[in-house]
Amino acid sequence: MKKILIAGAAGFIGSHLCDFFIKKGYQVIGLDNLSTGRIENIAHLINNYNFSFLNQDINNLNVIEEKLDFILHFASPASPIDFRLKPFEILNCGSVGTQNLFDLALKNDALILLASSSEVYGNPLQHPQTEEYIGNVNSFGERSVYDESKRFSESLAYAHIRYKNCNVRIARIFNTYGPRMRINDGRAVPNFINQLISNKDFTVYGNGNQTRSFCYINDLVDGIYKLLLSKYNKPINLGNPNEISINELVIKIKNLAKNNLKIIYKKLPADDPIMRKPNIEKANNILNWRPIIKLEDGLKKTYNYMIKENNA
Ligand code: UDP
Repeated sequence: MKKILIAGAAGFIGSHLCDFFIKKGYQVIGLDNLSTGRIENIAHLINNYNFSFLNQDINNLNVIEEKLDFILHFASPASPIDFRLKPFEILNCGSVGTQNLFDLALKNDALILLASSSEVYGNPLQHPQTEEYIGNVNSFGERSVYDESKRFSESLAYAHIRYKNCNVRIARIFNTYGPRMRINDGRAVPNFINQLISNKDFTVYGNGNQTRSFCYINDLVDGIYKLLLSKYNKPINLGNPNEISINELVIKIKNLAKNNLKIIYKKLPADDPIMRKPNIEKANNILNWRPIIKLEDGLKKTYNYMIKENNA
């Protein structure tokens, strides 16, 4: 039985990965310090014989004696509101934490998969973004704590591949959404759905013409799995190339329920990217992966989850 350590196990993406690998018959060790992750996300796994949970911080990792085959690094606060609330933690997760997990991978001769981000492209001047694009990133600003932590993690990955012969996979993850996002997460999809549920007007930042491309969680997890099994050790984009403006997103979410809510326009946060859309040719060719879940369907599933959570 293969043993996989998932750092960030109680987070949005991490918890779905735990479910996925348990279903695939892996022995899963979930690690999380519950800073932004929620134990509720993995509560249903706690009694599973093949699952164990370590309440630990990757930045201050205790010795892990178990022999690991795979390590997934999904541990970091990742919502733009966290950039203000937990800047030092984010910087640590992408530096000290990443180094600790690389050390663990080397010790175990394990394959390590790093959750990088479309944020490495910053406010991109190339559109859509290919993996070769080196980005347009402000190193000194509110978003920089996250952007640079991911860029530094990628540099660590490069050095470990080049000089330590470490077995690495690097996913550049674009906007992802779905059940288990925190209701007060602050990101566009949960915010708008939360506003819809609690009958509050929608808050659009800037003029709403900025674009994003939203990928449903199950599609992403499928891509992560295919990447893990591949032999490809360079950064690869994982995301849905279906690009829409934030104004269009609000309308889609507004249409999920009967309401007469208004849109209130607020100030655009600093360095908020004007456009974002992945070029996924590499993932398509190398991993034979592409997202299949339509935005309308994914939003409906997320809405149903948040309604249930709200009434729980
Ligand atoms: N956004 C918005 N209203 C909100 C939350 C987000 O207009 O209540 C905008 C945000 O400014 C950004 C986009 O939606 O342009 C996506 O934001 P999100 O926080 O989801 O993720 P990002 O892609 O910026 O990391």
